Amino acid sequence: MTAKRPEVAAAALPDEGAAARPIHTIVIVGTGQAGGWAAQTLRREGFTGRIVLIGDEVHPPHERPPLSKAVLSGAAQPETTRLMKPEAFDALGAQWRPGVQARRIDRAARQVLLSDGEAVPYDKLILCTGGRARRLAVPGADQVPLHTLRTVEDAMALAPALMPGRRVVVVGGGWIGLEVAATARQRGADVVVVETQGRLCERTVPAAISEYLLALHHSQGTRVVLGAGVLGFARAADGRSEVRLADGSVLVADTIVLGIGLVPNDELAREAGLACEGGVLVDARCRTSDPDILAAGDVAVALNPWAGRRLRLESWQNAQDQGIAAARSALGHAVDYQPLPWFWSDQYGMNLQIYGVPTPAHRVVQRGDQASGGFVLFYLAGDVVQAAIGPNAARDLRFARRLIEQRRPVNVERLADLGTPMSKL
Ligand SMILES: Cc1cc2nc3c(=O)[nH]c(=O)nc-3n(C[C@H](O)[C@H](O)[C@H](O)COP(=O)(O)OP(=O)(O)OC[C@H]3O[C@@H](n4cnc5c(N)ncnc54)[C@H](O)[C@@H]3O)c2cc1C
Repeated sequence: MTAKRPEVAAAALPDEGAAARPIHTIVIVGTGQAGGWAAQTLRREGFTGRIVLIGDEVHPPHERPPLSKAVLSGAAQPETTRLMKPEAFDALGAQWRPGVQARRIDRAARQVLLSDGEAVPYDKLILCTGGRARRLAVPGADQVPLHTLRTVEDAMALAPALMPGRRVVVVGGGWIGLEVAATARQRGADVVVVETQGRLCERTVPAAISEYLLALHHSQGTRVVLGAGVLGFARAADGRSEVRLADGSVLVADTIVLGIGLVPNDELAREAGLACEGGVLVDARCRTSDPDILAAGDVAVALNPWAGRRLRLESWQNAQDQGIAAARSALGHAVDYQPLPWFWSDQYGMNLQIYGVPTPAHRVVQRGDQASGGFVLFYLAGDVVQAAIGPNAARDLRFARRLIEQRRPVNVERLADLGTPMSKL
């Protein structure tokens, strides 16, 4: 089914119809999830030319969600995160440059200059450079060990610290922070989450869901300190670490984890003069302001009609779908990538999913409650569902997605009534 997308004004990006040149070489910078999907898609679409995959990590393309869940808890090995089996990766016949950084794009000469001194020419270049964990520039940040969680190495370094009796302070009550807190708690650690804002995940979920998450973490024995700015860190006399809060209190920790967001790796694009706005600006064909350079995944910012504004989507689904879209677009296929945002998080066995972008202007309708095992909050404009979010309600949320995409008015009483199957709406 084709979703009816809301109309929004297009971003000023390259014109269509630039004279097509033959494509011999496609270079992909970044071998995370989006880069991996872009490479696979090029071959699936029949591209027989040269694919060069440049990745500053040493791992083949892989997915990150398990790094804060099964890999961090020790239930899965890092190799399980790989996007492709080794044989399938080899079969792509891509020239993979592990551990090599793309340092500069020479747009005039159409080549990428690498950290090992090589210059790789391209006909099309796809930037899938993702982002890196944000650091905290406060006094003492260089005096104590501070963990972040983005890479396989980060997860492997943090996992041994999550042990019974160990105090873990997680700075940041967003998704990564909460997932680390849940995993640490499940491994028996004593966990405190410190969040500057007045509620959890304030940037991405409505207050009702923040409250739900807070209650969930409390119920599992995790302490959550809200509205608490971190002033600095210090080494305690016993060799442990101190987290100094703005209210004057001090938390002593064996391990400190920063989960305070992501900085998009858009320097390469910015230095090449591509339009950037908190990430690399792309159109619905994944093209940057240079039509021979495309971008996908966490680094890309695009006008999203479902949100009515530009968004950088940090999600598994987007990394996959936009990686695919960018590869198809690079080959000249008609691509119109304007996704309905979808994100999920797993904490203590609870699965939360979000479709669309809820705003305070929406009317909220609730279906189910915690006593019924899970619930969904629908966000409506008039009688049309615009967004839906809920814990342990994957099935209802799949139907909710259809309602959002169809943009048809719904009967609000029936929507709220658990006796009416979602399939009948
Ligand atoms: C711990 C964790 C848990 C997550 N859990 C969920 C979840 O539950 N649900 C969900 O929807 N999403 C989740 N996400 C988000 C999801 O994993 C990301 O959106 C996705 O990985 C983005 O893929 P990407 O390819 O755009 O970027 P990345 O996976 O970050 O890949 C970018 C790659 O480019 C490399 N690179 C950057 N610059 C250069 C350069 N100049 N030269 C060479 N290489 C370069 C980077 O080192 C990296 O390897 C999670 C993310 C993390 C970190």
